[in-house]
Amino acid sequence: MKIAVVSDIHSNLVALDAVHEAVNRLGADSIYFVGDAVGYGPDPNPCTRWVMDNAEVFVAGNHDAAAVGLTDPESFNSYAREAILWNAQQLKPETSDFLSSLPLVEERDGITLVHASPRLPDAWEYIFTLWDAEVNFSYFEGPICFVGHSHQPVMVSMDVNGAVSVVPGDSLIIEDGFRYLINVGSVGQPRDGNPAACFGLLDRDAGAFSIQRVEYDVPATQEKMLKAGLPQPLADRLSEGR
Ligand code: ZN
Repeated sequence: MKIAVVSDIHSNLVALDAVHEAVNRLGADSIYFVGDAVGYGPDPNPCTRWVMDNAEVFVAGNHDAAAVGLTDPESFNSYAREAILWNAQQLKPETSDFLSSLPLVEERDGITLVHASPRLPDAWEYIFTLWDAEVNFSYFEGPICFVGHSHQPVMVSMDVNGAVSVVPGDSLIIEDGFRYLINVGSVGQPRDGNPAACFGLLDRDAGAFSIQRVEYDVPATQEKMLKAGLPQPLADRLSEGR
């Protein structure tokens, strides 16, 4: 059983199509979605539709919540806010209803999904430091919690003695008695200096997890964004992955 774990699509359909191809190529049986289908990018309806049609388990992101009036857009910086308001205007009733219905936390077979942090799911706090990660291990029960939100892939493990460390590289073998807090990165707006779309692949039979990167046509998304009148800096940052 292989599970593709996808987060922070941010209305970037070109990146999402590339990821979907990769997910099929890798033979994933199931797709889990960790939030933020919309915001920033030019294609909120098809990206939300994709989640509705393809994801087996899903949770809300802060941009999803803001686009349907469940989180105050004033809490975002001005470019993000402008893009959220534009995204909100484009939503069709069915995509808007779906985003409104998303839970903050979901659990399936020992896997917890939450967009920002298991400690305070509705506060949209970032897990940036090892200390942030360590604290959060107390707020989920199973062996694995997947998050998104920072758009930076990172794998943190807790060993049998409770010692927490960042797992280097882009893959890990799941060890007995260990627990994992994993940020799967962002499909539609990576911020780790690599512009390629990012997602996670959990191979339950092999007991392995890996971060996957997929090149996509960045200029195609940038062109759509500018055509839609979205802020230029949001288009520019896609080239840098920042
Ligand atoms: Zn996001």
